[in-house]
Amino acid sequence: MRQAIWLAAIVGTACLIGSYFNATRRTNLEARIVKTDAEWRAQLTPEQYRVTRQKGTECAFTGKSWDNKQAGQYRCVCCDNLLFDSSTKFESGTGWPSFFQPATEKSTVTESDWSFFMRRTEVMCQACLAHLGHVFEDGPKPTGARYCINSEAMKFIPAGETEIPPTSPAKKD
Ligand SMILES: [Zn+2]
Repeated sequence: MRQAIWLAAIVGTACLIGSYFNATRRTNLEARIVKTDAEWRAQLTPEQYRVTRQKGTECAFTGKSWDNKQAGQYRCVCCDNLLFDSSTKFESGTGWPSFFQPATEKSTVTESDWSFFMRRTEVMCQACLAHLGHVFEDGPKPTGARYCINSEAMKFIPAGETEIPPTSPAKKD
């Protein structure tokens, strides 16, 4: 019984600390594209909303892009910001689309993530702060980085298709 109380106290404290960091860590990041929660809900599918605006994770091997080997660009499903290029995509075996670097220096931004009692590095869209996934340090050369990204957070534009003009939101400022 005493052990159970201690365990509950430890887990409870860890939860409080975790939620404190999650609630406060956004203060120094500013989105250039800001929409209300209702606007995001109206624009996105429920799964896209859950992943990008509520930091969800799609199940491995279920997303539309993990096994996509086509050449093209991966853009933010929320704001069209160019995120990743197919030339940096590699087979990680995890079931999530994986890249060794973002497409441009305006593609992503990272921040420490303390959820689930783990210290990980969260990857977000630099333009609208959509949650994309996490980056790890066990990737291939030349960067050694493994950007583990949810398919739901991205839209794929095959090479040669110009659905989105080059004046994307990333270049507006
Ligand atoms: Zn975005």
